[in-house]
Amino acid sequence: MSAHYEIYDPAFADMIDTTAPPHMIADGCIWTEGPVWLNDTLYFNDIPNKRMMKWRPEHGVSVALANSEFANGNTLDHTGRMVSCEHGGRRVIRRLDPEDPKAIEVIAHSYKGMRLNSPNDVVVRSDDSVWFTDPPYGINSDIEGYPAESEIGGCYVFCVAPDGTLTVVATDFDKPNGLAFSPDERRLYVADSGAIRGASFPGINYDLPHHIRVFDVDGTTLTGGEVFAEVIPGVPDGLRVDHEGYVWTSAMDGVRCLAPDGQCLGKIHLPAPASNLCFGGAEGTDIFITASDKVWHVKSTRRDAAHQTKNQLSGDAS
Ligand code: MG
Repeated sequence: MSAHYEIYDPAFADMIDTTAPPHMIADGCIWTEGPVWLNDTLYFNDIPNKRMMKWRPEHGVSVALANSEFANGNTLDHTGRMVSCEHGGRRVIRRLDPEDPKAIEVIAHSYKGMRLNSPNDVVVRSDDSVWFTDPPYGINSDIEGYPAESEIGGCYVFCVAPDGTLTVVATDFDKPNGLAFSPDERRLYVADSGAIRGASFPGINYDLPHHIRVFDVDGTTLTGGEVFAEVIPGVPDGLRVDHEGYVWTSAMDGVRCLAPDGQCLGKIHLPAPASNLCFGGAEGTDIFITASDKVWHVKSTRRDAAHQTKNQLSGDAS
């Protein structure tokens, strides 16, 4: 079925430009992930092809990094630099120049002397702490990394404090995946994609987690963690929270918008599984969705919660 919108609540119709269907802007990849808007450019990873791509409206798609070491989730820190999860290097890095593979700083690579599994997705809080998930998708096959045994023996959620201290903040996930803070940063949403048993969508066991959990955040301590929403079909992979606290999550049939109480308001239905999304564009209100071998663009009225936080901190509420 072609790309279209499914509106379950009238509020959703005001969040997206329903006059224009989702528009494909990139094709020909294997599995796209890690969309992030930086320097008037959409960057995203094509994980199995081990490359980072870029897209500009006037230039189309080209290769930004020919060897990305199976990089996966990307985000921005609060100085506008890219932070990336790298399956191949089993680490979280900051890219000082997104198109120079040597211009990096390592943020995290091991915990108590044990290598991380394969950091999957990452978010930076306004205090510059870096929060990331560490499932094994980059070590359990050669599709998205280098096969290896887990040294840590679990799939945890980690936080790197501004002083570099690495802390485990959650241990009770099956496969923690996408994560994002609420606009006030008092809540952290974390996806669990445990229902996927292989490196691709076909192997799904719905007896296992396919939901988003929500935690209360106090410093680097998480409490709560109840299930916020189950996602069917597929699993939640990457997710974002907008400036009013609505949660936008990937699923097998595209992207859905969830109200702060977990109710699904509508879907951006796509013909292949979505892995992630980001807000970007000149006004910060374009939605870019990585979905299997393609990337899609949707016009919206939403902005990323993190942009809102940054603006509030700088005294600019616009
Ligand atoms: Mg992911």
